[in-house]
Amino acid sequence: MIELSEAVDLLEQAISPLPARRQRLLDACGQILSAPVIADVDSPPWDRAMMDGFALRSDDVNAGTGQSIELDIIVDLAAGDVTTLSIKPGCCARIMTGAPIPKGADAVIPVENVIGDSASRHAGMKVRLCTDGFRAGQHVGKKGSAFRSGQEVLEAGARLHAAGIGLAAESGATHVDASPKVRVAILSTGSELIEPDAMPDFGQTRNSNGPMMTAAVELLGAEPIPLGISSDKPEAIRAAVAQGLAADILVLSGGVSAGDLDLVPDVFRLCGIEKVFHKVRLKPGKPVYFGLYQQHARPPTLVFGLPGNPASSLVCFEVFVRPAIQGLSGKPRREWHLPRGKSRLTAPVKAPSGRPVFLPCVIHKNTCEVTPLPWTGSSDLVGLATGNGFISLPANSGYHEAGQEVEVVMRVVD
Ligand code: AMP
Ligand code: MG
Repeated sequence: MIELSEAVDLLEQAISPLPARRQRLLDACGQILSAPVIADVDSPPWDRAMMDGFALRSDDVNAGTGQSIELDIIVDLAAGDVTTLSIKPGCCARIMTGAPIPKGADAVIPVENVIGDSASRHAGMKVRLCTDGFRAGQHVGKKGSAFRSGQEVLEAGARLHAAGIGLAAESGATHVDASPKVRVAILSTGSELIEPDAMPDFGQTRNSNGPMMTAAVELLGAEPIPLGISSDKPEAIRAAVAQGLAADILVLSGGVSAGDLDLVPDVFRLCGIEKVFHKVRLKPGKPVYFGLYQQHARPPTLVFGLPGNPASSLVCFEVFVRPAIQGLSGKPRREWHLPRGKSRLTAPVKAPSGRPVFLPCVIHKNTCEVTPLPWTGSSDLVGLATGNGFISLPANSGYHEAGQEVEVVMRVVD
């Protein structure tokens, strides 16, 4: 058994960002660009109507006088329509938002400014327009006013969010160079396990770790690959592990303690996984395993064996798997671990063992206080699901009175 700090050190040494790769634009949502996105068009690509109305020559308006003007409509232009006609003095085009401004015209008077019935005004007719508040060039999106063809619209290092995806799409980038989504295979082992949609018979246990790990992986912006349940048979575990080793990270739960049916460490060895550590001074989560699967011409797969008890599994996920996902996805080191702080206890707690302990709690951020939650042990998820963090107590630190300051770990950051 090794100390928690030593285990975290060993883990951190094994973490480096996955190399960037060229990928489809949508696959890169939430990822970090490793090369800039260069636009292949101007935006707008041509002078564009920004309102439904009438495209005309600004010179035709006696600006400032508020006088109405009457113009001949020579063409109707919906979005997508183009014309070779040009707008002469005294003429206009009926135009819809998004259509190119025809030659000669340089402004749009909105349809709301039609004097009289606006609906029937189209090519071949005259229209009378109110020019109150008119500005030369109004309601025209000028070609290239947002960005120019050849311009860097997104820089390397930027994280792609929805607006960035839209901007890249507008710029013609169907593929981008970006950090890849970390692929995390998730395997639950245990012959007693059944799917959550079934009612457990005597002796059966619902697989809660599978969905919980899937959710935790998704919340970090990584890609979960659920591998379902494996029975406690070495061949079954081995086949599933072999599948999981194709991912960047394999997170397995169950079967890693010291019992007769805790076959996982042996299976890992037979699969060629090199153990980095197994068993850590930590409560809950002592049986946790970490190893590396080396492969030709690609980074090693990081392999985690988490204890089967759900609370232990989640604590080990937060302490070990989270930094691995964050690190592989290229996040800066300060974002690898959950944030820590100090809070004053509203009720006493006791460090129950010779191991550092993580206890479920509610952290009150505005008062810097922390309330411990009832917790029956490593199979109990209630406190973890209702609380927002852990009280982190050092090994053998004994009894902590109400009012005393303790270290807390923020789990749910809102
Ligand atoms: P193990 O680590 O395999 O010794 O399992 C410890 C405890 O966790 C046992 O009570 C298992 O039934 C339970 N357990 C193991 N895997 C899961 C799982 N995926 N979901 C819920 N409970 C589990
Ligand atoms: Mg088991």
